[in-house]
Amino acid sequence: MTESAARAPESAEHFDVLIVGAGISGVGAAYHLTTRCPGTSFVVLESQDSFGGTWRTHRYPGIRSDSDLYTFGYRFKPWTGAPIATAAEILKYMGEVIDENDLARHIRYRHAITRASWSSADNRWTIEARRSDTGKPIRFTANFLWMCQGYYRHSEGYTPEWPGMARFRGRIVHPQTWPEDLDYAKKRVVVIGSGATAATLIPAIADATAHVTMLQRSPTFFRTGRNAIPIADELRELGIDETWIHEIVRRKILREQAFFTRASFVAPERVKEELIRGVREYLGPDYDIATHFTPHYRPWRQRIAFIPDGDLLQAIRDGKASVVTDEIETFTECGLQLKSGETLEADIIVTATGFHLSALGDIDFTIDGKPLVLSDTVTYRGMMFTGVPNIAWVFGYFRASWTLRADLVAEFVCRLLNHMKMIGARRVVPALRPEDRDMPLLPWIDPENFNPGYMMRGLHLLPRRGDKPEWQHTQDYWAEKDEFPAIDLDDAAFVYG
Ligand SMILES: Cc1cc2nc3c(=O)[nH]c(=O)nc-3n(C[C@H](O)[C@H](O)[C@H](O)COP(=O)(O)OP(=O)(O)OC[C@H]3O[C@@H](n4cnc5c(N)ncnc54)[C@H](O)[C@@H]3O)c2cc1C
Repeated sequence: MTESAARAPESAEHFDVLIVGAGISGVGAAYHLTTRCPGTSFVVLESQDSFGGTWRTHRYPGIRSDSDLYTFGYRFKPWTGAPIATAAEILKYMGEVIDENDLARHIRYRHAITRASWSSADNRWTIEARRSDTGKPIRFTANFLWMCQGYYRHSEGYTPEWPGMARFRGRIVHPQTWPEDLDYAKKRVVVIGSGATAATLIPAIADATAHVTMLQRSPTFFRTGRNAIPIADELRELGIDETWIHEIVRRKILREQAFFTRASFVAPERVKEELIRGVREYLGPDYDIATHFTPHYRPWRQRIAFIPDGDLLQAIRDGKASVVTDEIETFTECGLQLKSGETLEADIIVTATGFHLSALGDIDFTIDGKPLVLSDTVTYRGMMFTGVPNIAWVFGYFRASWTLRADLVAEFVCRLLNHMKMIGARRVVPALRPEDRDMPLLPWIDPENFNPGYMMRGLHLLPRRGDKPEWQHTQDYWAEKDEFPAIDLDDAAFVYG
């Protein structure tokens, strides 16, 4: 018997829908399926040992959301706390969604999916997974695959290769795989990077460390403000129902975000000044804002992290943390040598340098025996792909909460599944229509519009987009909230079989 035959699982359980991942998108998908497609059999496969995705993977000190939970929370489940939430609070909220809707019986943990093969002869997917507890391979079949695997590899973060790293005598740590035993008390810590992760981590550890330095190649925009929504608190004091508060606060936040996003395109200089003023209020007139907090790009070309109560800036003002804007020449035995000639001594170096983009959960896909090359496909509204049958993909927003889109995609998928049932279709494949044939095909996103590192490193792996809303992820919640419910399922972009 060959080794692969010996390892092959014997039988396959079948489901109407198989959901990949039990993060905020996968748990939301499960909720929407139970409520909108009753009678549909489904399973959620998750490689980790519990639900939460991002909020379980990341365990560095201070881990919290950088957008508000009124919009990062689901539309259907009121958020009742402060807008910026810790990972623990988000996990508790998700746990309640699972309990209140009896979803636990649908979720199988410790199932890492490795392969997914579509057969047009059978109109179904075969999914191969490996159980992380027993190592046993296990096989499922499903009519429809709902990809809720997020956008980055969960097992490890992205760390660039710098000269001399092996020489460093201290510890090098990536926040995504934060060691439980890491003792940073009274240690000199350098955090490389100035994105949301660095901004969260630094104030959380600053008090305990000897000093923490944020080393950035170039500055980042931050928003500051209180971690409170006065209107929510006031409505609560008036005894208004939480369902109403949730909806009112969502609408208010979304309107303000729409205004802010528009302003960052039409009046970028004004928005830039406003953001920088917020930073100056904490750091005072003598701080070198021009060097350390004045980015060279237009606001929103990268995600803007919200700093509740300016805690990062307070740590800098109090001298517990500092910022260095420079580039690494080499690691040394005791720290970093920078291109300016300056050196930074460190006991611990934290590489808050981002993610490995993983478009489809590092799963090998084949369609009728041929490997799927995602970058050869064109995306249908950033949630399906031309030539790939019976699949939906959740990819949230950059400039608004991810879950807003997870909810919209979920409603669409449920409508599509119900439509297929009604017309007796077993397969749906997006295809360019005659009027789309001469459409220019472009990379997934325009780097002029949004260009974080993980996206730029992985752009060549992502589907292409066209120049019409149907054939791109517009990143525009305010348009999609009306467009998605109105999608004509009989449009020629959907080929049923
Ligand atoms: C530190 C951090 C903070 C963030 N803060 C915000 C924020 O405040 N607001 C916001 O809008 N966005 C934020 N994001 C983006 C965030 O990832 C998403 O908003 C959201 O949590 C993604 O949810 P998800 O369920 O789609 O994916 P994930 O949270 O990535 O979950 C995907 C799940 O799928 C599982 N999975 C993947 N591949 C496989 C496989 N092959 N087999 C089985 N299971 C698999 C993973 O184990 C994981 O549990 C943040 C991201 C990070 C890293």
